Amino acid sequence: MPHSIQSPLSYIEFANMFARRRKELTDLPVNARTLADQQELQNIKSAFDRINSKSFGFCESCDERISAGRLRARPFVRICTFCQSEQEKAKTRNRPSPVA
Ligand SMILES: [Zn+2]
Repeated sequence: MPHSIQSPLSYIEFANMFARRRKELTDLPVNARTLADQQELQNIKSAFDRINSKSFGFCESCDERISAGRLRARPFVRICTFCQSEQEKAKTRNRPSPVA
């Protein structure tokens, strides 16, 4: 597949990174894996599913592309910075807020 200028995000880069990390985790004896390790394995599995379905790197909320920089910093994020800040606002919506 030709490398598209519109997709600076390389699935191969992430797939390799996840595969490396998965190997580190699965090399651990099962009883030596922490809850966080197990959670990370789940995250890796679901990231591979999203890579396979070509939805990896797209926001689950608005379908916009998530920036490569954000994904490199937090490879398991599923939503873009905009939707995340909207969700954080929604979380605080129960608090009394000043009426405009
Ligand atoms: Zn979004």
